Amino acid sequence: PEPEPEPEPEPEPEPEPESEPEPESEPESEPESEPEPEPESEPEPESEPEAEPEPEPEPGLEKKSSFFNPVSNEKNKKLDKAISKTREGFWGKINRFFSAKNKIDINVLEDLEELLISCDIGVSTTIKIIDSVESFVLKNSYLNDEELRNILKNEIVNLISIESKKNSLEESLKTPYVIMFVGVNGVGKTTTIGKLANILSKEGKKVIIGAADTFRAAAIEQLSSWADRVNVPIIKQKIGSDPASVVFDTIQSALSKKADYVLLDTAGRLHNKVNLMNELLKIKNVCNKLIPNSPHELVLALDASTGQNALEQAKSFLNVIDINYLALTKLDGTAKGGVVIGICDQLNIPIKYIGVGESIDDLQLFDKKQFVESLFTEK
Ligand code: GDP
Ligand code: GDP
Ligand code: MG
Repeated sequence: PEPEPEPEPEPEPEPEPESEPEPESEPESEPESEPEPEPESEPEPESEPEAEPEPEPEPGLEKKSSFFNPVSNEKNKKLDKAISKTREGFWGKINRFFSAKNKIDINVLEDLEELLISCDIGVSTTIKIIDSVESFVLKNSYLNDEELRNILKNEIVNLISIESKKNSLEESLKTPYVIMFVGVNGVGKTTTIGKLANILSKEGKKVIIGAADTFRAAAIEQLSSWADRVNVPIIKQKIGSDPASVVFDTIQSALSKKADYVLLDTAGRLHNKVNLMNELLKIKNVCNKLIPNSPHELVLALDASTGQNALEQAKSFLNVIDINYLALTKLDGTAKGGVVIGICDQLNIPIKYIGVGESIDDLQLFDKKQFVESLFTEK
C-alpha cells in the first residue's frame, strides 16, 4: 500500500500560492474524441547522458534498459495515458476551433492565440508560436486546417527542443551523485524521492535518503515510510534539527558506504522567505564542502496541475537559487499539461523528471520528443 503522504502544512503561516485555484481556471474540456494514442516515439538515450556509476556486475544486465539510459523502443503508454486530459483538452479545442472556420487566413490567428493561451502554454510562448505560424499563413493563401495543424506541431516541436545546459557526462558519473529536491509544499518532492529511490535501488544502485525536511515529524515519517518500503537507508534526526546537519550526516554516511546516489528531501518553502532560502544555500554549502560540485542536481519540483502558476513559481525560484533541473509532477489527471511547452520555452532549465501518477512506478525521465508526439497523436 502507498505510504500516506502528508500535505505538510508549514507551522509558520506560509500562504502557498500553488494551492490556490487559478484565477483564470479553465474548464476541464470534454473530449470530443476518444484518443487511443499510438505515438511513434523513440527514447533518446544520448540526450540524457546519465549516471551509470558502476558497470553492472551480472552479465546481461548491462543490456537492460535502465531508468537513465532507456533502450527500449516501447511506446510510452503510461505517458499517453497520463497526459490524456491535456491532449483531449487540446484537441477538443483545436477541433472545435477548426470546425468553426471554413477558411484559414490571418484572421483566425487571433482566435488561435486565445486557444493556445487557454491551453496553459503561456502568453509569451504563444506569441512566439503565433508569430511563426503567421508567416506561413501570410505566404499560403490556400492553407487548409491539416496543414495548419502540422505547422503548429512543428513550431511547438522547434520551440521545446532547444537544448538547455545539463550536467556533463563526467559530472553525471560522479559518486555519490547528490540529488536535492526543493520547492513549495505539496508539489511532490517527497513522493518523487520515494519513486526515484525505488527505481535506482531496483537497478542495483546504492541509494541513501536524507530527511532534511525537519520542519514536522510527519515529514520525517513520510520519508521514512518510503525508505522502508523501497528498502533504502535513511538518515534522519529529530524534528526541528538543522537541515544542514542532516545533510552533513547523510553525505558522510554516503561517502563511507560508497553510495551511488544521495537523495535529499527538504522542507517546502516559498522563494520569498529569505531565511528559508538562506537555509538552502547553507545546505548546498555543506554538500559542496563534502563533495565538490554537489549537489549535482538541484531539482525544483513543480506541480503541473497548477498550470501557469508552476511556470511563475519556477521563475521566482530561479531568481534566487541556482536550480539545474526541474521535476514536473502530477501530469496525470490535469488538462494543464500544456505548461510543459511554456516551461521548456521560457526557462533555460531542463525538465528532467515527470510524475505521472501517485504510485511508486509513476516516475519517468522527461523526453520532449515523446511528449510532443503523445500530445499530437490525435485519435
Ligand atoms: P557553519 O556554517 O558555521 O555552521 O559551519 P559549517 O559550514 O561547517 O557547517 C554547516 C552546517 O553543517 C552546520 O550548521 C551543521 O549543521 C552541519 N555540520 C557541520 N559540521 C558538522 C558535524 O561535524 N556534524 C554534524 N552532524 N553536522 C555538522
Ligand atoms: P511535498 O510536500 O513536495 O513533499 O509533496 P508530497 O511528495 O508529499 O506530495 C503531495 C501529494 O501529491 C501527495 O498526495 C502525493 O501522492 C501527490 N503526488 C506527488 N506526485 C504525484 C504525481 O505525479 N501524480 C499525482 N497524481 N499525485 C502526485
Ligand atoms: Mg515533503
